[in-house]
Amino acid sequence: MDGMDMSVRNLTILGATGTIGVNTLDVVARHPERFRVIALSGQHQIERLAEQCRCFRPRYAVVLTEDRADALRARLADVDVEVLAGARALEHVASLPEVDSVMAAIVGAAGLRPALAAARAGKRVLLANKETLVMAGRFFMDAVRDHGATLLPIDSEHNAVFQCMPQARPVADGEAHARSAGGLPAGVRRILLTASGGPFRARPIETLAAATPEEAVAHPNWVMGRKISVDSATMMNKGLEVIEARWLFDAQPEQIDVVIHPQSIIHSMVEYDDGSVLAQLSHPDMRTPIAHALAYPERVDAGVPWLDLARTGTLTFEAPDLHRFPCLGLAYEALRIGGAAPAVLNAANEEAVAAFLDHRLSYPGIAATLERVLDRLSGLVAEDLDDLHAADAEARRLARELVTRIAA
Ligand code: NAD
Ligand code: MG
Repeated sequence: MDGMDMSVRNLTILGATGTIGVNTLDVVARHPERFRVIALSGQHQIERLAEQCRCFRPRYAVVLTEDRADALRARLADVDVEVLAGARALEHVASLPEVDSVMAAIVGAAGLRPALAAARAGKRVLLANKETLVMAGRFFMDAVRDHGATLLPIDSEHNAVFQCMPQARPVADGEAHARSAGGLPAGVRRILLTASGGPFRARPIETLAAATPEEAVAHPNWVMGRKISVDSATMMNKGLEVIEARWLFDAQPEQIDVVIHPQSIIHSMVEYDDGSVLAQLSHPDMRTPIAHALAYPERVDAGVPWLDLARTGTLTFEAPDLHRFPCLGLAYEALRIGGAAPAVLNAANEEAVAAFLDHRLSYPGIAATLERVLDRLSGLVAEDLDDLHAADAEARRLARELVTRIAA
């Protein structure tokens, strides 16, 4: 780049205190000349958010409630940052005119509206929050296209697929879309999502009834938030990723396959008509996909060690067992049903996982709850976002009811 003026990218980081948020700030801190933080949000770790504000000096910090805002203001009395509160404030900082890129890394359905606000404001959306696509894939992708936003996937599998696609163009940009007839790009046959298989891949099935939250969150390869860690154990995470891939890459369910690859070195693959399979490899460290999306189309140091293949050892692959991992099958089913079914599945899963983490539901109870909720609510319509929020609420209500009943 020698001598060329590298423009600074202004960032809003939603969910800054979470795993993805912290990794994002780690990459940002390595490149102060490239990235400037305009806004940070967090909800549960006010102390950490305060530290981040001291370190990165954003213009805004956002929390959900007024009492958290007061707590944060008290800690930041000597720092020039405006503390805002509420869900609306998240949408506000996601669409500020001075912001170029929005890292959408809030966990759960709460991440949908702010991500949508960023898309509607035509931002570069770095999408980690998978629930956005699972709940409202069609609406979100339409918003991205209609408002000329650029969508860059952060989820490691989708970031890998993106990198392996022809000419790795942003997943959505209005112009490219106008030229394409929809569907996977010409010459692409199939997307292969890799899955680690999680902590229960090889555990005897009959012992899973006694699996505890502590065992479920002990992921062999990745360090992640608790909810997504449980989703890895059940493979619901991969199911949600199948749904994500359907929307991000305009693929049909039968064009998306899952292969278990316990070493988590290959993060996903794209198969072409001529038999070629392209893969993206790296250490299982979210800073690689985060740095890729932050700097796209350039490449920057992510702080991740170089991959030493000779020392990585054997890479193995196996087919997922749907008997062991019923949640994966349920995700394909929700995708085939369409409409509100994926939103229903996602909402029921959030409730079931919360109950499991809270020791109110057994491990097999998660899949059992999801199956019943999907069965009962699969016919809900999804004509607009209100329908999806209503389906989400109904699925949560039913899931909670079932959890209480199963527990009793
Ligand atoms: P996390 O639980 O570590 O962090 C979540 C962040 O969201 C925190 O900053 C938290 O304060 C904030 N938050 C939680 N509830 C909120 C609410 N109701 N309103 C506003 N903010 C709220 O989660 P994570 O592991 O960083 O994951 C974030 C998202 O990225 C999730 O959707 C997850 O599925 C996705 N993702 C994570 C990984 C990973 O490796 N951690 C990989 C791929 C995708
Ligand atoms: Mg993933």
